[in-house]
Amino acid sequence: MLRPDFIFESVADLTSDFYLKNGIKAVIFDIDDTLCPHGSEAPTEDCRAAVSAALSAGAGVGFISNNKAKRNEFFTPIVLSANKPSKRGYLEICKRLGVKPCEALSVGDQLFTDVWGARRAGIKAALVTPISNYKNPIIAIKRVLEKPLLRKYKGKSK
Ligand SMILES: [Mg+2]
Repeated sequence: MLRPDFIFESVADLTSDFYLKNGIKAVIFDIDDTLCPHGSEAPTEDCRAAVSAALSAGAGVGFISNNKAKRNEFFTPIVLSANKPSKRGYLEICKRLGVKPCEALSVGDQLFTDVWGARRAGIKAALVTPISNYKNPIIAIKRVLEKPLLRKYKGKSK
């Protein structure tokens, strides 16, 4: 349940070709430390490029965050305060984008929220290396706990 289907260095590695080849009809992005540095309100250039890659593959795009802070309207549709690894937000985004969970891909930087939540919802999961941030103590602890699992999964992911 915690094993990602795909592992990438960053969202820049997720190309339209990748989405087309894997039949991805919707991409559900985590925002903090996946698309943008933690807490960014507006999209960065890299973030816009990552979203464009999915859109140009004809995939729908949605966003999910455990953060409750309101975001720029670029991040639409979005589920805030998602309580990942709850599967609720993932299923809600699939419904809004009109896809089945098995047609969607989640992209996130944390095993215990993004990968686990997506897998529980029946969605494929891609893990990316977090952009930054070891300042938040809770995230720092999760990073330490993730480490041995990540070592195991890297090289073994499908
Ligand atoms: Mg994140």
